[in-house]
Amino acid sequence: MEGDGAHRLAGRLSTLAGGVVVAGEFRVAAHATERPRGWRLAGTEAYGKHLLTRFEHGWTLHTHLRMDGSWTVLGPGRALPRRLDPDVRVRLALADGRTAVALRAPVVELVRTRDERDVVGHLGPDPLRPDWDETEGVRRLRAEPDRPLVEALLDQRGVAGLGNLWAVELCFLRGRSPWAPVGGVDLPPLLALARRMLRHSLEHGTRMTTTGDTRRGRSHWVYGRAGRPCLRCGTPVRFRPATGAPYARETWWCPHCQPR
Ligand SMILES: [Zn+2]
Repeated sequence: MEGDGAHRLAGRLSTLAGGVVVAGEFRVAAHATERPRGWRLAGTEAYGKHLLTRFEHGWTLHTHLRMDGSWTVLGPGRALPRRLDPDVRVRLALADGRTAVALRAPVVELVRTRDERDVVGHLGPDPLRPDWDETEGVRRLRAEPDRPLVEALLDQRGVAGLGNLWAVELCFLRGRSPWAPVGGVDLPPLLALARRMLRHSLEHGTRMTTTGDTRRGRSHWVYGRAGRPCLRCGTPVRFRPATGAPYARETWWCPHCQPR
């Protein structure tokens, strides 16, 4: 889940605003006995990859989907396939017959709406939000100038919402090695590009492409293309596996287009 995916889900969940929960549950230990019956939905906002689903009585459901969690809205009379039942983490059945279901979400917690900062206050500015602040994003990214660019971009405390795909592709599009120290990178144009790409992806469906080409194997410049020819210069794309260290994810780059 990248930031554009979270914002897309927030838009979908916000169509439930005003709806009243008639039955529901939170299948996590901390809230297993909580029954949301009678709660009225106020809307859902994304902040980076976090989702904040607010209820009118001053509580917020905070979810984070990480790699493979999802939210689904089922229309009236529609049921989830039984095989997915063990994956359910949140179920909110509304009076109008629709049901919102969170599957496999690793983070499910209820917080007071006034305390939302406790769960998202650490995040850097989000390029998809109206309160996006590029100057603040640059300041935060440069806080540790020796850090490799790709790791700084993935740390949500710098800028919120960039996942590995966007981070790797942004390094390519700006012609910078993922291992370049972030302090030496011209960040304002990189962040402006990040914002344009995220907005474009949010507004134009779910298929994420950075090349503008949606054909299989051609939708990304380097992401997922280890050993294959760079789409710009033909040099084999290099790959470094994740190391297990924080923000050291799988990385792809073209050594010709992105010199050290
Ligand atoms: Zn190249």
